[in-house]
Amino acid sequence: MDCLFCKIAGGEIPSKKVYEDELCYAFYDIDPQAPVHFLVIPKAHIQSVSQVDEAAAPVVGHIFAVIAQVARELGLESYRVVSNIGPQAGQSVPHLHFHVLSGRDMTWPPG
Ligand code: AMP
Ligand code: ZN
Repeated sequence: MDCLFCKIAGGEIPSKKVYEDELCYAFYDIDPQAPVHFLVIPKAHIQSVSQVDEAAAPVVGHIFAVIAQVARELGLESYRVVSNIGPQAGQSVPHLHFHVLSGRDMTWPPG
């Protein structure tokens, strides 16, 4: 499939790996928006949160356990997890991903 994040998860396109297992892959964002900014993606292609159904729920739950574990290992005390769905929300890559941002003050509401 011609999908940037499928290619990154498969190692076809290089990335700076943070974590990997059989279900998911985590890597640093190429255009970081905070001192720490990495992405966690399922290895299987899912377009966005809008396509998550009961069959995909276990991998999404697993991804959140991975986020908590990696954040602990990196010593992150406070961080934000974001997933953009659709172009108006700012989704630029149509493969489900969770941004993990940390290391600076965050504003609310998000822009
Ligand atoms: P979104 O805009 O929410 O779809 O997030 C996509 C993210 O992927 C953006 O933060 C980009 O900076 C990031 N990105 C795009 N290409 C790459 C790449 N080759 N390696 C790492 N991150 C990337
Ligand atoms: Zn994909």
